[in-house]
Amino acid sequence: MGKSFDIGLERLTGTGVPRIGETQDGGVKPPLHNAGRQEAGATLVASFEEKNRTLKGAGCGTHDSEGSTFYLETFGCQMNDHDSEKVAGLLLARGYRQVDGPEAAKVILYNTCSIREKAAQKVFSRLGELRPADEQDGKSFNTEDTEREHRVHRDGRVLEKNHPSQRKIVNAGGGKIIGVLGCVAQQEGEGIFERAPWVSLVCGSASYRKLPQLIAELEAGNRRVTGLDTDTDETFETEITRRDNPWRAYLTIIEGCDKACSYCVVPFTRGPERSRASASILEEVRRLAEAGYSEVQLLGQTVNSYADPSARKMRFSELLAAVAEVRGIRRVRFTTSHPRDFGKDIVEAIEAHPTLCDHVHLPVQSGSTAVLRAMARTYSREEYLEKIGLMKAARRPISITTDMIVGFPGETEKDFEATLALLDEVQYDSVFAFKYSPRPNTPSLKMADAIPEEEKGRRLAILMDRQREIQRVRNERTVGETFEVLVDGKSRRENQWSGHTSSNRVLNFTSPEQELLGDYVQVKVVSAMPNSLVGEMVGRA
Ligand code: SAM
Ligand code: SF4
Repeated sequence: MGKSFDIGLERLTGTGVPRIGETQDGGVKPPLHNAGRQEAGATLVASFEEKNRTLKGAGCGTHDSEGSTFYLETFGCQMNDHDSEKVAGLLLARGYRQVDGPEAAKVILYNTCSIREKAAQKVFSRLGELRPADEQDGKSFNTEDTEREHRVHRDGRVLEKNHPSQRKIVNAGGGKIIGVLGCVAQQEGEGIFERAPWVSLVCGSASYRKLPQLIAELEAGNRRVTGLDTDTDETFETEITRRDNPWRAYLTIIEGCDKACSYCVVPFTRGPERSRASASILEEVRRLAEAGYSEVQLLGQTVNSYADPSARKMRFSELLAAVAEVRGIRRVRFTTSHPRDFGKDIVEAIEAHPTLCDHVHLPVQSGSTAVLRAMARTYSREEYLEKIGLMKAARRPISITTDMIVGFPGETEKDFEATLALLDEVQYDSVFAFKYSPRPNTPSLKMADAIPEEEKGRRLAILMDRQREIQRVRNERTVGETFEVLVDGKSRRENQWSGHTSSNRVLNFTSPEQELLGDYVQVKVVSAMPNSLVGEMVGRA
């Protein structure tokens, strides 16, 4: 693989782009994990246009598509966000210019998520907006965006979005190329051409390296192209990644998943586990540090199942330690960890390296061993609690967050109560809770005793109420404490800033300083809500 480098480094200020962790229509992204959120009012710090200009100024890559424009919208988790950063890098390097709306784009790409039914529907809603006039034959095509996502935030709000689309219908005529990328592409394959004949490109994540070639084939006159292999040994690394955040860099270290949880589409849509060689990861981290990034976030569907394919055979905990020691890196996060592969060595690495953030996202899914067995999660409630015990015994406090699914087929009231009791026992700092959504090809699709939607909704509401109260109490205990914060947002209101603590809490604070974005500062907490803290800056870190 050629030497790769990164160009999203500039500390530019600007508005008009989605906030970190949000979809472009302002909705909240579902997790791979919960890192990287920003509070309302904070602004992101680089605009697409500015970054594109910078790239062109850098004179990198070939410019064989000079003048062409692309629009790329991303749904789903951080892995999708990061894949999109790499896709954008690929296209920018070939002379494409990124625009922030489909109207002005020659190539329109949707990087999709199919983890739950409503997430998958969303792309068809977007495609409906692009239907060309000659396809408007009276067939109904849903353009309502009805995705609902639920998260208990630390400020107690239950974020639920259900925003009917107010979006403009864009006529896809005029030679536009419309492509569906990611999990829906992999899952639906060529079926997408039947549902939306104005789509001409369908490409899963394992084939993204081929994207420029696929687009070139369409430009040369091919009507439809696909990239749907999943059996590649390659991880998706590009020569140029156009990173969205100027301080925090995502870095995928393992692709795919071999775990086969009975409800989950990921093994079908992202293929088998493939890890990236440790030396290549460390080289990229060093380059990121030199380029001014101070936080790296190692990504994988099961990041801690990392298996170094090189002769070095670094364990995940050794890799964490090595990344933590890279000069210039002040924070290292990793997500998502699978409980089966979570061991004492990871906790020991966190204890030994203050650079490793004191936060672990460890999805449990259910508090009932019977449900965990039906989910094929490979651990019991007790085994999961042992892993939690390792973290609770650590020499510095580790913030623990999780994912939960309610209403899995056969989940009894007693099973659900076991999940609620787990909340009380573990005392999570944040929980992403989902109603079970039946997915194609998954074993749980055929399981008996489906739970009615209404009952799933009831259980979800109870769970979130319980968790909100836990977060309120836990956050109130931090009042009076001082935390180091990486400042990543500036409010429109004067003297108002926001950032994240090492434990990934959002801390909104006041400071009369003029320029703090990207800096590490000390902030004293003066009040707390279930989802965020409020404080005042007391010094530089
Ligand atoms: N690999 C991670 C793990 O094992 O925990 C999770 C990755 S998945 C992208 C994120 C979360 O989506 C899962 O933890 C689970 O809670 C949720 N999820 C996955 N499939 C689901 C389904 N069919 N219905 C509802 N939620 C689902
Ligand atoms: Fe899906 Fe399970 Fe793999 Fe996570 S571990 S991605 S939930 S199959």
